[in-house]
Amino acid sequence: MSFHVYNSLSKQKEPFRSLEAGVVRMYNCGPTVYQRAHIGNMRAYVFADLLRRWLEYRDFDVRQVMNITDVGHILADEDEGEDKLEEEARKTGKDPWAISAEFTEQFFRDCEALGLRTPFVFPRATEHIPEMVEMVRGLIDKGHAYQVGGNVYFDVTSFERYGRLSGNRVEDLDAGNRIAVRDDKRHPADFALWKTDPAHVMKWDTEFGPDGFPGWHIECSAMARKHLGDRIDIHTGGEDNVFPHHECEIAQSECFTGETFATYWMHTRFLQVDGGKMSKSLGNTYSLDDVRERGYEPRHLRFALLRGHYRQPLNYTWAIMDEVATALKNLDEIPLRMRRVQAGEEGAAQPQAGLDLIEAARSEFELAMDDDLNVPRALAALFGLRSALLESRLGTEAAGAGLAFLERADSVLGVIQLEEQSLEADVEALIEERQGAKAEKNWARADEIRDQLAALGIELQDSAGGVTWRRQ
Ligand code: AMP
Ligand code: ZN
Repeated sequence: MSFHVYNSLSKQKEPFRSLEAGVVRMYNCGPTVYQRAHIGNMRAYVFADLLRRWLEYRDFDVRQVMNITDVGHILADEDEGEDKLEEEARKTGKDPWAISAEFTEQFFRDCEALGLRTPFVFPRATEHIPEMVEMVRGLIDKGHAYQVGGNVYFDVTSFERYGRLSGNRVEDLDAGNRIAVRDDKRHPADFALWKTDPAHVMKWDTEFGPDGFPGWHIECSAMARKHLGDRIDIHTGGEDNVFPHHECEIAQSECFTGETFATYWMHTRFLQVDGGKMSKSLGNTYSLDDVRERGYEPRHLRFALLRGHYRQPLNYTWAIMDEVATALKNLDEIPLRMRRVQAGEEGAAQPQAGLDLIEAARSEFELAMDDDLNVPRALAALFGLRSALLESRLGTEAAGAGLAFLERADSVLGVIQLEEQSLEADVEALIEERQGAKAEKNWARADEIRDQLAALGIELQDSAGGVTWRRQ
């Protein structure tokens, strides 16, 4: 089976074919940088990373673009209301530019900690104003948009396919819709491409007049076109992005270029916490730091976020994190075991013994991932391999093939600890530092290191002959 993906546009699984042989152009809707990304947001980005890694496993050159929304995202994802960044600035008394700079950096740090491969480019909306103006102008010229004072709206009735992605119909949006109707719109479902507001802090003087700023949807259309061209292979986002955001992106891009914008649309279902919605009032919008404070590593969170199928809602609880930690420890044992066989410490006499187990696991892993990134099934193949290894002995050749397979599998999952040495090296270095601290009678630092090692599950034993350590 070749790689198949569920396309939200056709509502079915389709074989994946890129526009250009061997190359994938992929755009991921990125964060609005007015606050720290929470673990739900991170599910959407871990999914984008997993997709990229699987395409790379399948030898595609992936041109991945993930935008940074640093202006123009209105609170209710609609036209009326306050810009998320401006609201945060008003509430905190900070400058919106400073807020976006702070949370963009924070986002990059979180991505790195979670092992997300760096996209080909992370475009910022505020650095693409001319590209947006060019598209808005083009849409006006082609009769798909109209200007009223300093505002420019997209005319949804001018695009026949409007609603194809989300299933919404313009007629239904007209009746009883919850969008506050502005006097200057021709149709209540028309959406803003450009807005003018002298009170806005992040604003630009353009051909549409002074004090303007872009609508959120046009940002993504313009940044995708600038960095990937008129046609792209894959566009991703969370399930809430389907409407209005992605529906509007399709309308703008396709009316401007006359081409099909994205071949495949892929959407991640939401992460729930304790079986319900994450919300500030419930105090359950956790960040990576909350995860760390409870003693888990970033890779535990990565595993917790990718272990479910991306098209199913996924639940998060602290109890699940304990299960995740145990599951990962079990997976970490597989490479350890194989290394012992390679070192001649255990194993079968016959070098090829167990090769069939490795081959079966690899084949099942690939079938699962090719089937619309079925991670639960792919993980079952790895856990199945672990169980099989407990019952049978591997030969050296099989252990080598097994290690090679695990390295390949983990180039996609990014969660398994393949090298035990890294922990040992860290521990040795800390013990050495502690010996130095003791020699200098810096007892506070020496105790601190002991506690730090204890948190890693390492117990020190001081004796006349030196220091030894063991795992608790
Ligand atoms: P925002 O920063 O609000 O633009 O959202 C960034 C991304 O996170 C979007 O792709 C959202 O769809 C996604 N997202 C928001 N909440 C969740 C959640 N609870 N679970 C998964 N994805 C989410
Ligand atoms: Zn977007």
